[in-house]
Amino acid sequence: MLTDTIRFGRKGDIMFGMSRLLVPLICLVALATTAAAQSDTKFIRETQYSSGENNHLCLIWWIPGEYWVYSAATKDSATQASLRLIAETLEPYVVVAAAYGAMGEFASVSYSTDEELFANISLRDIHGRTHLPLSPDKVDGEAANFLAMMKPVFSGMIGPLGKNLNFYLWPATIDSLRLADPMADGSLSVKLFSDSLRVRLPLNALLPEQICTKCGERSEGAWDFCPWCGNHLKKKK
Ligand SMILES: [Zn+2]
Repeated sequence: MLTDTIRFGRKGDIMFGMSRLLVPLICLVALATTAAAQSDTKFIRETQYSSGENNHLCLIWWIPGEYWVYSAATKDSATQASLRLIAETLEPYVVVAAAYGAMGEFASVSYSTDEELFANISLRDIHGRTHLPLSPDKVDGEAANFLAMMKPVFSGMIGPLGKNLNFYLWPATIDSLRLADPMADGSLSVKLFSDSLRVRLPLNALLPEQICTKCGERSEGAWDFCPWCGNHLKKKK
């Protein structure tokens, strides 16, 4: 039933978009409470930057479409369908969640507004090109609606910072080249004020563990050398 709704839906119809995404949202609330503590941790660790040093709080999280698919792997089929729907809605974009707060006296925190974050965030893509985020009027209504609904879910996952979390989007491709690709060799970074998230690629979370042919120990999927014996590993992609 869900797939039929997608097939016959029109883009830009807000009511349609809302109802279409309500089911995934409900699933996500359930997901957020359990998933973050389990298999998603590895994925999140590789794609998220957080700092609480030097009198400020900062969170930058690149949320690749593959995150939803990855999260779906261990879920029931209804949740999987919802998560695929989310991935599809956000597919035309690179999505980054960010929050920033300056700590004042007595542990008070003054958080940067959406506009301040928007004006101070940039993405350096996997090809080394730097891009400013898309202005809200350039973002498809359905994706924007979805992210607005997601805010409270992420707030729950992240805690106090989450309430001041905002989403920033870039087009998935510019001049036929992807800006971000979790399976690429290299890195991407997101700069927010003087903090940076730097992500090494490919993501270990998306690659199977490697078994060293020399010593038999396990290592992360993206590693080139065995951390135990130094043997050169042949990556399986
Ligand atoms: Zn080894």
